[in-house]
Amino acid sequence: MAEKKADIGLIGLAVMGQNLVLNMNDKGFKVAVFNRTVSKVDDFLKGPAKGRDTIYGAHSVEEFVAHLERPRKVMLMVKAGDVVDSFIEMVLPHLEEGDLIIDGGNSHFPDTIRRTKALADKGILYIGTGVSGGEEGARLGPSMMPGGNKKAWPLVKNIFQSIAAKTDDGEPCCDWVGEDGAGHYVKMVHNGIEYGDMQLICEAYMLMKNALGMDADEMHEVFKEWNTGDLDSYLVQITRDILAFKDEDGSALVEKILDTAGQKGTGKWTGVSSLDLGVPVTLIGEAVFARCLSAMKEERVEAGKVLSGPDTRFSGDRATFIEDIKKALLASKIISYTQGYMLMREAAREYGWNLNYGGIALMWRGGCIIRSVFLGRIKEAFDKKADLNNLLMDDWFKNKIDECQASWRRVVAKAVELGIPTPAFSTALAFYDGYRNDRLPANLLQAQRDYFGAHTYERVDKPRGQFFHTNWTGTG
Ligand code: NAP
Repeated sequence: MAEKKADIGLIGLAVMGQNLVLNMNDKGFKVAVFNRTVSKVDDFLKGPAKGRDTIYGAHSVEEFVAHLERPRKVMLMVKAGDVVDSFIEMVLPHLEEGDLIIDGGNSHFPDTIRRTKALADKGILYIGTGVSGGEEGARLGPSMMPGGNKKAWPLVKNIFQSIAAKTDDGEPCCDWVGEDGAGHYVKMVHNGIEYGDMQLICEAYMLMKNALGMDADEMHEVFKEWNTGDLDSYLVQITRDILAFKDEDGSALVEKILDTAGQKGTGKWTGVSSLDLGVPVTLIGEAVFARCLSAMKEERVEAGKVLSGPDTRFSGDRATFIEDIKKALLASKIISYTQGYMLMREAAREYGWNLNYGGIALMWRGGCIIRSVFLGRIKEAFDKKADLNNLLMDDWFKNKIDECQASWRRVVAKAVELGIPTPAFSTALAFYDGYRNDRLPANLLQAQRDYFGAHTYERVDKPRGQFFHTNWTGTG
């Protein structure tokens, strides 16, 4: 077997694993492969990998590990959760100090923190890497977000950056993210932002459909135009294409799809992390809740028979309203990314990560679901000021908000008036107004807390850090 030595081995020959292996092999890397259901190894070799003599199939973990060049690199592309731990346990006895395990699945970052530390104690290097872009990304160039034990990065940098998507100017959408769980954390935030972007597009669609009575073909034209400017992105592009797609009877397929959204949990994880860290990531939260509400289909149908609302039809200048929706979408998107970056900054502080914020925008710039021209602007903002505290403080984003603000307010006001739910547009605007306000009503809130719970308060006319309590009822 000595002649069949692989640069890297991959366990998990489902859709992502198979495509990553082919991608690596296309770039000249020899790959050993293994899968729990061993017959899938042979199916892969006889099927998609047919004729490739530098992909080596193994029928046992021992055989798989024997194929690997030292230091051995084992990439897991399996279902997240306990399956990752059980494969680590299976390969561990066959590895030696300095070998590397990579988890490319959608693992929850606390698991990656735990695994990085536990394996470091055994002398094994560990990387948890987010991989985004789905099947096509894995095959042709995904966005990859590796974090973990930094000593492992030089071992796989060349492989990862070779297979990753490239930006228009040729930069790989993959770079070192940070320590232990940082890569999976950033992937989680990416997925949360993806939830937000999708919800914003859906709200724009609902406004055009319900307020303006537009059909799928008309909306297709609008999204086609939107995809040529600041909103140019993969998600706007696929929305454009979905709206044009016809069912067998010639009508728009999208209108025949049941309106109940599924979710796998990464949006929820982002929301939970934002609550844990005390960061107001309201837009992603609303996007997750919007999916939850959509899933309550039967209840909504019953409620719709009982609960009333206004007439949803818009009367006014239609072209202006469509332009307003476009601007509301851009402004809300700016808020969503602002919140996502606030979350990553707080997580970096909490978990001791040294995150490269511009590099993260670059990793998301190509290959992944949220890829967009917009992310190039975020990269530029961090290139101008590496320690930028908040995206809204960058001139480009501030000016865009100024440009969009009146439209954004009109859209949210009109949606409220017409009874069309726009939770993401609305929460983005509420966040913006809260963030820019130097005096919120939390003074009253503190008084209430002090009244019923003696929680004390600080005063605007005294230095910070001095706490006061008042006997509000004058009794006792
Ligand atoms: P998947 O359906 O998440 O996982 C299938 C793989 O896991 C197969 O190799 C399967 O082996 C193995 N597996 C499942 N349960 C197992 C168990 N109890 N014990 C041992 N092995 C088990 O595959 P995927 O969609 O290709 O995704 C792989 C990873 O990438 C996941 O973490 C996923 O979340 C992440 N991811 C997926 C996408 C996507 O678009 N699909 C995008 C980005 C990231 P058998 O063949 O024997 O069942």
